Amino acid sequence: MNIRTRFAPSPTGFLHVGGARTALFCWLQARANQGTFVLRIEDTDLERSTPESVQAILDGMQWLGLDYDEGPFYQTDSFGRYAEVVRQLLDEEKAYHCYCSKERLEKLREAQMKEGIKPRYDGKCRRLESVPEGVDPVVRFRNPQSGNVVFDDLVRGRISISNDELDDLVIARPDGSPTYNFTVVVDDMDMRISHVIRGDDHINNTPRQINIYHALGAEPPVFAHVPMILGDDGARLSKRHGAVGVMQYRDDGYLPQALLNYLVRLGWSHGDQEVFSVEEMITLFDIRDVNRKASAFNTDKLDWLNQHYMKELPAVEVAGHLAWHFADQGIDTENGPPLEDVVTVQAERVKTLKEMAAQSRVFFEGYGELDPQAAKKHLRPVAEEPLRAMLENLQSQRDWTPSPLHEVIDRVAADLEVGMGKVAQPLRVALTGSGVSPSIDKTLWLMGKQRSLEGICKALEFIEARIAAL
Ligand code: GLU
Repeated sequence: MNIRTRFAPSPTGFLHVGGARTALFCWLQARANQGTFVLRIEDTDLERSTPESVQAILDGMQWLGLDYDEGPFYQTDSFGRYAEVVRQLLDEEKAYHCYCSKERLEKLREAQMKEGIKPRYDGKCRRLESVPEGVDPVVRFRNPQSGNVVFDDLVRGRISISNDELDDLVIARPDGSPTYNFTVVVDDMDMRISHVIRGDDHINNTPRQINIYHALGAEPPVFAHVPMILGDDGARLSKRHGAVGVMQYRDDGYLPQALLNYLVRLGWSHGDQEVFSVEEMITLFDIRDVNRKASAFNTDKLDWLNQHYMKELPAVEVAGHLAWHFADQGIDTENGPPLEDVVTVQAERVKTLKEMAAQSRVFFEGYGELDPQAAKKHLRPVAEEPLRAMLENLQSQRDWTPSPLHEVIDRVAADLEVGMGKVAQPLRVALTGSGVSPSIDKTLWLMGKQRSLEGICKALEFIEARIAAL
């Protein structure tokens, strides 16, 4: 079977976590089976669709690396095709014009509610003898009136709905514009989609859509409805839970690999494995293994995965993402260490790339002012001798890498017969202006020779001024 999946977002907001997970599952199902992944933008709701949302979806997919083989297609480009299929159904009497006014439908609804029956269209216009003047009709699909719609959902199992429960769906509005349940069928049919994977908020639409496939003489695709995502607190995931737009995760300093790994585990598992490279996901993923229960978002786990990938991915790859954060924070990285060296040193010290960039500013810009607390504590008169010795030794130091730099510190401490901390702590403040930084040899390495020497001179001036003021 030729596997063809599609992701079909409505561009009415950013690409949120739930949508991204659906996209990932669709993408994996295609990639796992040498299939084709299609992106279709369902933008027929002209009032709610915006170009910004389209862009946010495209950006989110690109950032996550969910590439599509066909598309993006835009439903607004297919109005002609939808009109043609509406015409076909009308001609074959599988659809009909309905002239019922809003008022009539509202009254009908109220009466049905009063009687305690499920509100549904009563089919009045199915058999119209005369056409009312001056009313623009909707087009309704003539839903079968007996039998059941049965389908085997790959996640939810067998589902059977009686046609009694389905009424005659509006497929085109008075202005001729088509409705979701109709356009989705026409497109999935035309695009020869084999697997419709989507959120289970659409599960009630599926039987109606299957009836439309049959009316069009088409074989329905296989369906898989994936459960929704809940927040840490068990409520439906929403803005309240923090970042819900995919690009917000980039802005907050997450790696796309971490988010993908996180998302794939929301509802899918393979034994008790937690870490999956994209290649492994492709090898192991099968939509049939997706759990039918809702899954809850867990930020701690995402943080854990993020740190895992910051440490384990090739440093140059992480550096590419880190570069974005430096730029975002207005840090010019022209004059400083290679970014992959920053990654190597900092990955285990921070949770996000955003923090990594912020904590690495000093390697590119040096520092303006000494942190008064740290200076007071560590740049005392007793620190003058070790700092002078460091300055002398470092001036002639050629190999500016952590291990020989460490030897210099050890040597100075031994010569002066003091503990290493007596050298390292003042040195750290001299280099970074603060009392916190990676290990001292790595700090020296990343600061580079010139900046290190300048820092030590600045610290010595500070100490001299302090002595002078005594
Ligand atoms: N456009 C629909 C939505 O964003 C999805 C339709 C589908 O996957 O069938 O919810």
